[in-house]
Amino acid sequence: MQVITATAAPSSESSSNFDDLGLSAPLLKALSEKGYSTPSPIQEQAIPAVLSGRDLMAAAQTGTGKTAGFTLPMLERLSHGARSGRCQIRALVLTPTRELAAQILDNVRVYSRHLRLRSDVVFGGVKVNPQIQRLQQGVDLLVATPGRLLDLYQQGAIRFERVEFLVLDEADRMLDMGFIHDIRRILSKLPERRQNLLFSATFNPSIRKLATGLLHDPLQIQITPPNQTARTVQQLVHPCDMKRKPELLSHLIRTNNWQQVLVFSRTKHGANRVAERLSKEGLSAAAIHGNKSQGARTRALQGFKDGSVRVLVATDIAARGIDIQQLPHVVNLDLPNVAEDYVHRIGRTGRAGECGHAISLVAAEESLLLKAIERTTRESLEKVLIPGFEPTVLEAPPIDLSGGRGRRTPRSGSGSATRHDRGRADKPRSKSSARPRRSGRTSQR
Ligand code: AMP
Repeated sequence: MQVITATAAPSSESSSNFDDLGLSAPLLKALSEKGYSTPSPIQEQAIPAVLSGRDLMAAAQTGTGKTAGFTLPMLERLSHGARSGRCQIRALVLTPTRELAAQILDNVRVYSRHLRLRSDVVFGGVKVNPQIQRLQQGVDLLVATPGRLLDLYQQGAIRFERVEFLVLDEADRMLDMGFIHDIRRILSKLPERRQNLLFSATFNPSIRKLATGLLHDPLQIQITPPNQTARTVQQLVHPCDMKRKPELLSHLIRTNNWQQVLVFSRTKHGANRVAERLSKEGLSAAAIHGNKSQGARTRALQGFKDGSVRVLVATDIAARGIDIQQLPHVVNLDLPNVAEDYVHRIGRTGRAGECGHAISLVAAEESLLLKAIERTTRESLEKVLIPGFEPTVLEAPPIDLSGGRGRRTPRSGSGSATRHDRGRADKPRSKSSARPRRSGRTSQR
């Protein structure tokens, strides 16, 4: 297997340009209108490989430009073939979340604006009939979440005989979310002759197993070592007491005058509580998580993008696919249960070579989670005390991540079906210490 390794350097450091990669004029025009001048490292590798018909297995974290890496060459090849027929699709992109699916379609539409190709998206949580009607006209490139796609297939609203491309995006997350059976069912219905592109932030044993049955002589691309955070993101930890976190969050937003902040909460209830509290204090805030209707999720995200919502509080799953140009601040109100999610969370800032700022409010109860993150990222995070919010609790039993179903320790790897929305900070079981280093610095960002 051919393996190519590259670092996810800012695109301005790249030496090639899009003209050299084999894309035709309509796509080049769309790229220049979008303002992309140089391909990112993953685009440099993936575009020629996909154009030549090869399968791909790419380890690339968000923010590397991977979406254009697989979308552009597929659009190029689709533009040379016959248009899609009734209920037919020619390229299928599977993603774990609705937000990511919508985001990918947005990108596809921008890149394909000068091509005569039809693209669409289907996901659950919204009415199925309009989706059925749109599919009847035929779709060249369809982005979908697995459950709704299977529903549509079972209803006879979609046919797979003409599928030429399959993309599994954020495959590790799809397995984490328990989609493996849906994925295998979809695979069993697709034509055998097709091109397969698999993208995953990490390649754990279950992803490798999936890849073995799926990919034929793939080009393997490794853009950054797994679990490495982008160099452009400045990371800080502010130690504080658990119960004062909401207060500290609002203090930081106000004193630093942050205008666009993505906040991560471990639980749905926690996300609601913090969003409500901030709103009452006059900071426009919205929560986004799996219990919210699709309409509420879309509105919150849109408000966050257009600036009417200053603080978006999200759980891990809901936050997948949030891609906002130059998102300046990410705050971990709670540390994630799974250390790799830390990398995904802070990947929302510092995208495509921009500078970002990621802070974590860490209570003594989370010291084991913090250690797991530092082990996974192989980085020691700088701790800065905020005057007036110094922790009074320096030692505390760790958070029970089981939600009351028995002891669990923080994991520094992914691969099992941990549900990120489930943890509750109750039932302490064992002792650990967390003694923050005192520093004279305060955060001025
Ligand atoms: P992705 O990793 O696909 O989620 O892309 C991350 C961000 O980088 C998105 O906002 C893209 O619009 C942007 N992007 C992708 N490719 C390029 C490029 N070649 N030049 C500048 N920005 C890009």
